[in-house]
Amino acid sequence: MALLPIRLYGDPVLRRKSVEVPEVSEEIQLLARDMLETMYDADGVGLAAPQVGRSIRMLVADASHKDGGAGGRVFINPVILEAWGELSYDEGCLSVPGLSAELVRPEAVRVRFQDETGATREEEFHRLWGRVLQHEIDHLEGKLFVDYLSPIKRALIMKKLKQLQKEAKSGIAL
Ligand SMILES: [Zn+2]
Repeated sequence: MALLPIRLYGDPVLRRKSVEVPEVSEEIQLLARDMLETMYDADGVGLAAPQVGRSIRMLVADASHKDGGAGGRVFINPVILEAWGELSYDEGCLSVPGLSAELVRPEAVRVRFQDETGATREEEFHRLWGRVLQHEIDHLEGKLFVDYLSPIKRALIMKKLKQLQKEAKSGIAL
């Protein structure tokens, strides 16, 4: 297992649209394990492949400390089939360290995905699990949580974002 460098705001890979994973190969399973290890090491609850420089549709998540479940999960080619309810949550991102913002999103989502064995599953996710999945699936579209902020709120944190961008360009990654 290995820790992977996390790409920061300003890195173009975070804006690319990811492609489907054609097959859950051993390489994909290894990447999933490394992503989980990297996520736990960074104290995150979710991590999408673009955040470690791979433009492929996979992510890992673990919201079990807060909202139950068995632990870390792997989601390959995830698709949101349905979303409902409403929940406000203080959302952050490992690629935008030190910043968070209160965002309203659907409380629950029904997601179809493949697990780490390649099996196709369909499940409902609520509260933090639902939030993490929506946030990480956005990453696969090249979308970041700061994109949802109002222009005023965005302007307020722009200074910090610019600093992060400078750091990303100079090759410093957490
Ligand atoms: Zn993120």
